[in-house]
Amino acid sequence: MRILLIGGSGQLGLSIINSKENLGEFKFFYPSSKQLDLTDLSSIDSAFSEFNPELVINCAAYTNVDGAESDKKTALQVNGSSVGYLAKKVEDYNSFLIHISTDYVFDGKKNGEYQENNKTNPISIYAKSKFEGENNVIRSNSETLVIRTSWLFSPYGKNFVKTIIKRSKHDGEIKVVNDQFGKPTYAMDLAQAIIALILNKNSFKNKVYHFANSGKTSWYNFAKKIISYKKIECKLVPVSSSFFNYKAIRPENSALS
Ligand code: NDP
Repeated sequence: MRILLIGGSGQLGLSIINSKENLGEFKFFYPSSKQLDLTDLSSIDSAFSEFNPELVINCAAYTNVDGAESDKKTALQVNGSSVGYLAKKVEDYNSFLIHISTDYVFDGKKNGEYQENNKTNPISIYAKSKFEGENNVIRSNSETLVIRTSWLFSPYGKNFVKTIIKRSKHDGEIKVVNDQFGKPTYAMDLAQAIIALILNKNSFKNKVYHFANSGKTSWYNFAKKIISYKKIECKLVPVSSSFFNYKAIRPENSALS
């Protein structure tokens, strides 16, 4: 199966590429963001005509949650409108689209875990742009599958686990937010789930799914676990979200069922 993987240099993209499960059956094409730039629709056209994909996995996104507040246009284009164009292209090529979305489509006010059909209410530009992207996919006529995930970490790219390890080795004390709750998810686990879904895609198509590892926690408790696991001596200080004066508001509870 010829698979066009967009966002192959990101942590989820690299987790898929480096996953050993069943990869023999798949021929991956993973252009760089220079070759296939979601802000340049003609580069999407070129990738499709060059590779004629039977399946497309979109792991690419404008993922800088605070950056999106001041670069709204790019965030909305990369995560929203261009995803609509991609879905149309997938239809033209009779292909199949697996699109990755986020727990941040929810406002975080629910007490329990979010089910797939719960009311969405994105509260930041990043969240709104991702919400527009998933809606563009759902409303398209293509065969698709949307996977919402949360708090990704992996050996690749930038993520919370790597940041905490690095900072705790250098700083005697780190302040970590203790009023946001979610489910940390290992990108390699999601990569395996995506591969399993590809092999059974017709049984799952045209629906939204949540994929997160089990275990809801706060960033503070997650950081505590990381440094104890790595046996690093560092003082962690719990603080509320308001302490950091973030540009973007984050949901208080984005735990996915
Ligand atoms: P990363 O930030 O690690 O990677 C993002 C990828 O998108 C990179 O390959 C990047 O390319 C690419 N990209 C960015 N802009 C463009 C563009 N204009 N055109 C083409 N490609 C572009 O993201 P993750 O792997 O962490 O996230 C994967 C998916 O999961 C995303 O959809 C994200 O919204 C979603 N998600 C992530 C969470 C997280 O905690 N990280 C939580 C919930 C959902 P380059 O490296 O060249 O810039």
